[in-house]
Amino acid sequence: MTSLSDDDRAQVLYEATVQYWQHILTIVRFAFSIHVVLLVLFLFIQVPVMFLGNAVSVLVYVWCFREIKRKRFQLAGLLMGIEIVGHAMLATWVLGWESNFFLFVFCVVPVVAFSFQRARARRVCLNLAIMLVVVGGFAGRRHMGGGAQISPQLMDTFGVLNALAATALLLRSAALSVSFSLQMQMSLFQTAHCDSLTNLYTRRRIMQRVRQLGAQRHQQEVSVLMLDIDHFKLINDAHGHDVGDVVLQRVAQAITASVRTTDMAARWGGEEFLVLMPGTSTADAQGVAERVLACIRADAGEVTEMGEGLAQPLQVTATLAVATMQPGETFREALSRVDHLLYEGKRAGRDRVMVAA
Ligand code: GH3
Ligand code: MG
Ligand code: MG
Repeated sequence: MTSLSDDDRAQVLYEATVQYWQHILTIVRFAFSIHVVLLVLFLFIQVPVMFLGNAVSVLVYVWCFREIKRKRFQLAGLLMGIEIVGHAMLATWVLGWESNFFLFVFCVVPVVAFSFQRARARRVCLNLAIMLVVVGGFAGRRHMGGGAQISPQLMDTFGVLNALAATALLLRSAALSVSFSLQMQMSLFQTAHCDSLTNLYTRRRIMQRVRQLGAQRHQQEVSVLMLDIDHFKLINDAHGHDVGDVVLQRVAQAITASVRTTDMAARWGGEEFLVLMPGTSTADAQGVAERVLACIRADAGEVTEMGEGLAQPLQVTATLAVATMQPGETFREALSRVDHLLYEGKRAGRDRVMVAA
C-alpha cells in the first residue's frame, strides 16, 4: 500500500469530516430540541439556574449550527463537547445524581473521538471532563442536588426521561457512526473498482472476481468476451476527445444493456472492454457478443447533440472475441487466447464477432 502525502491525508480527513457531520446532523438537531423542551420546563417549574443554563445551551447550539453550515467542524465539535459536558455537570450539581443528566455525556463520545482524532490535547481534555462528570458525579452524589426544590416524583420523572432520551441518543449516534464507516467503505469501493467515465468495473475488480471463481471453475463454464472499438483513434482525431468519451460511454451502455446481472463488465483499457461470464457456454457467450455488437452499431454513434458538425450519427463498430475457459487453463492464458482472436478479427476486416474453437 502506498503511503499518502500530507496533502492527501488532509483531503481525506476533510472529505470524511464533511460526510460525518452530514451524517450526524439529526443527532445535533435532536439534542437542540431536548434543550428547547428543558428550557420551557425549567421556566415552568421555576428553577432559574437551570433555565439560564438551558438558555445558554440553546444559544450554543444555534452557534454550532452556524459553524456546521460554514464547514468549521472542529469548532462545532468543540462547542458540542463543552456544551454537553458543562450542561451535565451543572444539572447534576443542581438537581443531583439521580436526575440522570450525567448520562448525556456518553452521547458526545463519538463526536469527540471523531472531531479531535488529530488534536490530541483537546481530545484528552474533553475525555477527562467526561470522566470527571461520571466518576466525580458518582463519588460526590451525596453532596449534590440541593440546588432546586423539586418533589421526589418530579425527580423520578427526570431520571426516567433522561435515561430514555440519553440512551436513545447514544444508540442512534452509535448506529450512525457505524453506517458512516460503511458508507465510506462503499464509496472507496466504488472509486477503486468502477471506472469514472463509463461506470463499468475496473480490471482490479475483474481480477478479484476471477480469484473468487477459481474454486468453482470445475462446476461451471466461464466465458470471456473481449471488445475493442474499431478505428477509435479516427473518431478522436476527426471529432475531438470529448466526442470520443461520449462514444466510450455509449459503448459501455450497449454492453450493460446486453449482459446479465451475473456477468461482470469492465473497461479493460482505453477503448477495450471485457465481460466475464460465469455459467455461460460458448454458444451463449456468442449470443451476448452478437447482441452487444448490434446495439453498438445501432446506438453508439448517436452523438449529434455534441456539436454542429455532427448532424449525422457516427458509424461506430467494434470487434469482439469470445472464448470459454478450458479445464486447467488460467485466466491469463484464456485472456491471451481472446486477445489473439481479437487481433485476427481486426485483420479480417473488423466489425465482427470471433469465437474460439
Ligand atoms: P483498431 O480498430 O485497430 O482498434 O484502431 P484504434 O484506432 O481503435 O486503436 P488504437 O489503439 O490505434 O487507438 C486507440 C485510441 O483510443 C488512442 C487513444 O487516444 C484513445 N483513447 C484511449 N483512452 C481514451 C479515453 O479515455 N478517451 C478518449 N476519447 N480516447 C481514448
Ligand atoms: Mg485497442
Ligand atoms: Mg480500437
